[in-house]
Amino acid sequence: MSRCGRAALVGAGPGDPELLTLKAARILSEADVVLHDDLVPASILAMARRGARVVAVGKRGGCQSTPQAFIEHLMIREAFAGNFVVRLKGGDPFVFGRGGEELAALRQAGIEVEIVPGITSGLAAPASVGIPVTHRACAHGVALVTGHAADESAPRDWRALVASRLTLVIYMGARRVAELCGDLIAAGMPDSTPVAVIANATRAGQVTEVTVLSALGECTIGSPAIIVVGDVAALAESAQPVAVKAAGADVQI
Ligand code: SAH
Repeated sequence: MSRCGRAALVGAGPGDPELLTLKAARILSEADVVLHDDLVPASILAMARRGARVVAVGKRGGCQSTPQAFIEHLMIREAFAGNFVVRLKGGDPFVFGRGGEELAALRQAGIEVEIVPGITSGLAAPASVGIPVTHRACAHGVALVTGHAADESAPRDWRALVASRLTLVIYMGARRVAELCGDLIAAGMPDSTPVAVIANATRAGQVTEVTVLSALGECTIGSPAIIVVGDVAALAESAQPVAVKAAGADVQI
């Protein structure tokens, strides 16, 4: 039984506020305290109830970060104070979002936790440019992996993944394109494998570059970006404009 208070781990989706779930919007409007990542846009934070405390606890790779233990401590303290705490994360809370650790910490403290899935950027980014991550003709499945070398869940051995012939969707890899290109080729992936890099998917400033694996190292696209590796990447409609609602205004990108 919980001592008091409650919490929710909520996915904010990839950026476009219209891709937020109805449930996430409702829960945001009920929260007393909202702890959010850097990737959550202001237009979504604006959905919090007036008077709610909205606190940034972001930790983008390479930038100053809020220690994970501090975030967990803050959530528990606020919930014990009787507040409804919403932990709002970009994409889905359980895809490279440390949502599993936060859920465990909250449950261990005896706090009731609701989980609200979100649309993960690794699926939204390819979809937004017309890439089907699975395709009957050329991709029987998809693997979501991190390209961040320091991440404990990063693939140590790319060989098995390459042999699986699954579409690879790589998160947090934009700053390491040259190394990723080397790793995948060394693991036996053909140089000519199509690759699409999609930055700022579904938000203002979205850019897409379609290339082949051997040229991936030359890609200078910014972060946050999703890298899609596999035959389906060649289906990207990189030149197609995407309409995005950014901070209430329609933006053509
Ligand atoms: N939980 C998030 C992922 C957090 S890890 C999710 O489910 O989407 C952070 C990484 O997500 C970034 O480095 C980038 O690879 C990816 N990412 C998040 N939002 C993105 C966006 N709008 N466009 C492209 N990549 C994005």
